[in-house]
Amino acid sequence: MTSARNLIDGENQLKLAIQRSGRLTDHTLELLRHIGLDFESYGQRLFSRARNFPLSILYARDDDIPDYVALETVDLGIVGRNLVHEQGCDVAELLPLGYGYCSLVVAVPGDTDITSPDQLLGAKIATSYPQSAKRFFESIGGSPEIITISGSVEVAPALGLADAIVELTATGSSLQLNDLRPIHTILESEAVLIANRASMDTPARRENIERLVMRMKAVDAARRFKYVMMNAPLANLDEIKQVLPGLKAPTVIPLDVEGWVAVHAAIEEDVFWDKIEQLRNAGASEILVSALDKLLL
Ligand code: ATP
Ligand code: ZN
Repeated sequence: MTSARNLIDGENQLKLAIQRSGRLTDHTLELLRHIGLDFESYGQRLFSRARNFPLSILYARDDDIPDYVALETVDLGIVGRNLVHEQGCDVAELLPLGYGYCSLVVAVPGDTDITSPDQLLGAKIATSYPQSAKRFFESIGGSPEIITISGSVEVAPALGLADAIVELTATGSSLQLNDLRPIHTILESEAVLIANRASMDTPARRENIERLVMRMKAVDAARRFKYVMMNAPLANLDEIKQVLPGLKAPTVIPLDVEGWVAVHAAIEEDVFWDKIEQLRNAGASEILVSALDKLLL
């Protein structure tokens, strides 16, 4: 604890633990660079220090990150929510980060007629998430035998080790490959930014944590929105404003052509094509769409 804090100087200097090498690493490094942090991350480095922000980055095994944060070895961590849930650490989840999506599911062999976890209350469950599995089954009134395996959990039923498994899945392909069928989702997970509670209570550190969160939110918002510009008949402006609420309101700019205006607005990606169709029906033309790099809401 103290050793890590001694490695850095200044009370406002933050430490962030990220996965050294694994599924979250590329996205995490990309996010940190996208929010403007300049640091080196090559080779077998354990540590690097941002040149332009009071932040040091610690490269760790993902399993260690929730504890590092809870014990104040570091102030911040980026890790799958599934690990925070498994370890039951007392940390603050500040922000979901929009990558590393996966689900912790209960799955059974395809040839059984089990359709609900209620049918597994006294069964044998293989998992690498024993605490999550135990807590889940306790919550539905069961106490199955939990067999903890660290890898290849999917083969346990075929080996006769277990009746069902509790495992992470993203696409379901590994379950399918092993002829397993998911019957219940325990937890939806993605990479999250977590913080030590004492760090959040230290004003100098909290301020820098909030600066980082603001930057991460701007990157996330930019990804969710597109910027559209179009020409529209003035007569239909009200209709177009109904389709395009914009962030506050769309920007309307007069054009040199009588009876026409240019309209600029941000549209959420989810409803993008619906909105474009409605705009065209309302007479909008020359619709130009661009991606955003950052969006501060
Ligand atoms: P480490 O060497 O750091 O301990 P690991 O092998 O335990 O790494 P990874 O397989 O790299 O961990 O997974 C890291 C995280 O990625 C998981 O905790 C989870 O949040 C997320 N993830 C996303 N998709 C999947 C998936 N299909 N299977 C497992 N984890 C996934
Ligand atoms: Zn791990």
